[in-house]
Amino acid sequence: MSDPSPIRAVKGMNDVLPDAMPRWHRLEAAFRETARRYGYGEVRTPLVEPTPLFVRSIGEATDIVSKEMYTFVDKGDDMLTLRPEGTASAVRAYVEHSVNGQEPVSKWYYLGPMFRRERPARGRYRQFWQAGLECFGDPGPQIDAEMIEMVVTLLSSLGVQDIEVLVNSLGSRETRGRYRETLRAFLQPHEARLSEESKQRLITNPLRILDSKSPTDQEICAGAPSILDLLDEADKKHFDELTQTLTALGTKFRVEPKLVRGLDYYSRTLFEIQGKGGELGAQNALCGGGRYDGLVKELGGPDVPSIGFAMGLERILLALPNEANVRSLDAVVVVTEPSMNVKAAVLLKSLRDAGLTAEGDLRGQSMKSQLRRAEKLGARTVIILGPAEEARGVVQLKDMRARHQEDVTHAEVIAAVRTRLAMDAPIDGATR
Ligand code: ATP
Ligand code: MG
Repeated sequence: MSDPSPIRAVKGMNDVLPDAMPRWHRLEAAFRETARRYGYGEVRTPLVEPTPLFVRSIGEATDIVSKEMYTFVDKGDDMLTLRPEGTASAVRAYVEHSVNGQEPVSKWYYLGPMFRRERPARGRYRQFWQAGLECFGDPGPQIDAEMIEMVVTLLSSLGVQDIEVLVNSLGSRETRGRYRETLRAFLQPHEARLSEESKQRLITNPLRILDSKSPTDQEICAGAPSILDLLDEADKKHFDELTQTLTALGTKFRVEPKLVRGLDYYSRTLFEIQGKGGELGAQNALCGGGRYDGLVKELGGPDVPSIGFAMGLERILLALPNEANVRSLDAVVVVTEPSMNVKAAVLLKSLRDAGLTAEGDLRGQSMKSQLRRAEKLGARTVIILGPAEEARGVVQLKDMRARHQEDVTHAEVIAAVRTRLAMDAPIDGATR
């Protein structure tokens, strides 16, 4: 016996239905366009990668690798993982295709779903969308500043209000190693008061304790030494130049020495943009990024300094001002009786061939119900087909904004719809 109960989507994985799509499209188009202006080209990599790629790059002790990955053994006994982020795959592709031998600097962007088995909440899902950039081959710091400035420009062009840009430097791997010990030594005497999770991290990944949401942990960390005091001369110069360039570009930021972020591969520049407005709530990190100078080499490639960032599309959408999600159509075709259905189908085709958006409801509904539906669909014009008009060689064209109706001939109908569209001020141009 088959089970008739409906099957639901996997927890934390969302459907996006057509009504919600105009906002997604606007965000994706804005991202692609901005990336293009800054010289980035799109890369598409597989959703599934060999598990060791993420273990080696993101790091064993991170939250992502230790508890959030969707890992499985496939029928050929290969250990595979649904990608939890984009950088590791981009670096793998960069190395695999020897891109470094073809050009000194490569600027790539990507856009697609990522998978992490986290506890679902508003702005935190198990499948979520990221848009990101990777720049290979430029040691910075101007490119670091350019990337941060680009994201800020993108967010403000979208109308995201109230953002804060946090920047920090993690220095070299050696500096980070020294800082790890300094921090561990500072936190050790407070161990008993630390949260359970932070006690664990004191052993595995003490830097992450700085990120802890527990108030007691935060209070203890308030007095912690700053990594900026441990930077060597070259790292310090890099960071100073980064902040100078940001200032020259007019990008507001705050230096936050406690910003460490969750991935192992970062070095030097680190940044995060937080949002305060909209419906964000606790999940306020809109995007994060940083420099990963050692990673390409660690994954078997040449020594190529690189920087990248990723933003969560669902979170950006939560931070966006709420705009009406109007779907609009240039024309809706209505029939006075079903005998006109074939004529209506032909008219719909010619409207669409002419590049207009058009819809018709040929299920045999009443005129009243067809007109109500046209209104709901946001029709700019309604074209009514009936036998009486047909006998005269015309259709009725109803202007839904001017509430005015007139007869037009078959030959004129497309031009008449276009005239109405041209009369409109471009108020909803962005979503059409
Ligand atoms: P958080 O601290 O919120 O867990 P993160 O440090 O894990 O974020 P990154 O790995 O840097 O995030 O990913 C970059 C961006 O991707 C985040 O700033 C956020 O906007 C988004 N993001 C990360 N995880 C999720 C998720 N589970 N659901 C939705 N968006 C996410
Ligand atoms: Mg996370």
